[in-house]
Amino acid sequence: MPRPIQATIHTKALRSNLARMRRAAPDARVWAIVKANAYGHGIERVFEGLRGADGFALLDLQEAERVRALGWRGPILLLEGVFEPRDLELCSRLSLWHVVHCEQQIDWLAAHKTHVPHRVFLKMNSGMNRLGFAPHQLRTAWTRLDALPQVDEISLMTHFSDADGPRGIAHQVRAFDDATRDLPGERSLANSAAVLRHGRDAGIRADWVRPGIAVYGSAPDFPEHDAAHWQLQPTMTLASRLIGVQQLQPGDTVGYGSSFTADAPLRLGVVACGYADGYPRHCGTGTPVLVNGVRTRLLGRVSMDMLTVDLTPVPQAQIGTEVTLWGRASNGTVMPIDEVARAGGTVAYELLCAVAPRVPVAVA
Ligand SMILES: *Cc1c(COP(=O)(O)O)cnc(C)c1O
Repeated sequence: MPRPIQATIHTKALRSNLARMRRAAPDARVWAIVKANAYGHGIERVFEGLRGADGFALLDLQEAERVRALGWRGPILLLEGVFEPRDLELCSRLSLWHVVHCEQQIDWLAAHKTHVPHRVFLKMNSGMNRLGFAPHQLRTAWTRLDALPQVDEISLMTHFSDADGPRGIAHQVRAFDDATRDLPGERSLANSAAVLRHGRDAGIRADWVRPGIAVYGSAPDFPEHDAAHWQLQPTMTLASRLIGVQQLQPGDTVGYGSSFTADAPLRLGVVACGYADGYPRHCGTGTPVLVNGVRTRLLGRVSMDMLTVDLTPVPQAQIGTEVTLWGRASNGTVMPIDEVARAGGTVAYELLCAVAPRVPVAVA
């Protein structure tokens, strides 16, 4: 028997979350963001659930090839554009749309030989200060692109730094609107947090929205709101089983560094899941976990292949009992990945992307 850990991808949940994004941004077209191998889910595994999207957006040319290999003939957008001139050949061959965020990418396009002109998304830096043209450079970049025979349609985009937080997006929306006011073309601004929090605003949902994390069932503004509040369903369950049970006496300690000491008799469960599976080592005593669908807590340190849990609320638990690290238990109870991420001092994005190759994945 293989080690009992398994990840399960929930096709219906992906479909439902995508529909939720559509409801939040009526009339906008939806890019399903599938970068980082579909936030760790696997592009091939999410395709069925997300094929109702208007397009797929990603970073990696190899990932774009995989989406085309699945038979997708609709739009694919390279969110960072091309990394070297050669990449433009693949854009031509696979009809990829690509972001243009710097002068060099325009130079490469100007030197590119293609029969079919490209559709590009001209990116403005509205305050995030990662990629994009400064507001005062945008018009020059647009004019250069517009003059190129290699370019067909120019769309405009920007990305928010604080759509999930107190600073908000108003300053960036203003910068973008001011700089693009009299430029033609479709527009794209909103990530998951902006779709959920501001999708009713036509200027923010614009022509295309770009939700990622919400499609994968995590609340982008947790803990202010949780996934249930936004009606998002978990798209990945990470589950395992108990492979050992210990009876602790007062004064007994657990695991490396003896970071937990029992102050009363306690039944301890040993779970086949550790940081080598992608479970965060920073999740300490108190991190929530479901045993047999009942909420309990981690005790002590996460080790490479195992972690340990308090069986007090589940006295019937024994070797073989189901443990849900995140996602949905067999009895329907949900362990929100956002809670686990928070306990580990990180975000659900990182947990989803970090599930290790050794974990077998099923699609349901
Ligand atoms: C990753 C990414 C998104 C999606 O962000 P979420 O917070 O996951 O919704 C949108 N736009 C760009 C440019 C991105 O890189």
